[in-house]
Amino acid sequence: MAKNLKTICWHVTLFLILNPVISLAVLIPYLIFSDSYTGATLAWNIFFASIFAVLTNLSITMGYHRLFAHKSYEAHPILETVLLFIGAGAFQGSALKWASDHRIHHRFEDTDKDPYSIKKGFWHAHMGWMMKNESVSLPIHAPDLEKNKLIKFQDDYYLASSVIVGYVLPTLIGAFFGNAIFGLVIGGGLRIFLTQQSTFFVNSLSHTLGKTPYSLDKTAKDSIVVAFLTHGEGYHNFHHKFQFDYRNGIRWYHWDPTKWSIQLASVTGLAKKLKTVHFSEIVKARLQVESDNFKNSQFYHEKLEPVFEKIVQSQQHFEQLKIEYKTAGAEKIASIKAEMKLAQIEFEANMKKWKVLIKALNASPH
Ligand SMILES: [Zn+2]
Ligand SMILES: [Zn+2]
Repeated sequence: MAKNLKTICWHVTLFLILNPVISLAVLIPYLIFSDSYTGATLAWNIFFASIFAVLTNLSITMGYHRLFAHKSYEAHPILETVLLFIGAGAFQGSALKWASDHRIHHRFEDTDKDPYSIKKGFWHAHMGWMMKNESVSLPIHAPDLEKNKLIKFQDDYYLASSVIVGYVLPTLIGAFFGNAIFGLVIGGGLRIFLTQQSTFFVNSLSHTLGKTPYSLDKTAKDSIVVAFLTHGEGYHNFHHKFQFDYRNGIRWYHWDPTKWSIQLASVTGLAKKLKTVHFSEIVKARLQVESDNFKNSQFYHEKLEPVFEKIVQSQQHFEQLKIEYKTAGAEKIASIKAEMKLAQIEFEANMKKWKVLIKALNASPH
């Protein structure tokens, strides 16, 4: 028992438990017994807390995750500062520590070295890992991030900044809206709890719930439900396969507010060099998953493999032509356009063939 107690990371454990408990213990009696607030002050505080919750989550998904951990785009120092400032108020550690842990998660997904491995159970991946010294105290290894003065500054003054942004700031804004207590417990404590849960779902639900369209190797999954809960991080199968892509939901209609925020930042000049994986690589991954069950069959080698090659080749050809199109002189434009159209037609025709073959194979006993 004594040995077990020593493995617990007490300051994180107590914070994770006491923050929502104390917030509710203050809020509920206050709502019932106090007559020093109005419905309007409560509504304004909930409104502010909701906006602040979204911004806090985006500072983690767009900042800590896709910018710092994966470097999937480059941000202007103004954007970096804003993301680090609001991110501190999420109480998820400094960007440096968060990104370092997250890189280990990707590198060692589902193994013992993965700090929040789902193989150790849903609870461990969700919150349990932060309550254990062993998994929460992994040494920081991110030399590229340590060179960034803004990231280093946030790491050096993390505790003070998290208290100021996480509790003091919402208390002041609450006071501005007519009630500092609402600011502290709704905009502060409960907002921290909700945004933490949203992030934690990425490590637990995203490795449990959903489909695996791009990779069957590991536990990461794609789920629209989890995408809604996590500001777009629920397309986690895609993310683990192509971690340097700034998008998680690749279709324009995929619910990925983090992707849309990065695109918006890029339009305003605050973000640049948005990284995307070639569509031919995405298609290749999808086709490999779809045909995985039939890999060793004769049918696969005789029928599917040639179509597979044609689909990938026509898409790669299209991508090559797209590059040529950008630098082509006026005399070549028309012929490149025609070739692009042909590549597209070939791609679509072979995709149709592929679907027919896969359908037939799935329908037949194998
Ligand atoms: Zn993951
Ligand atoms: Zn990631």
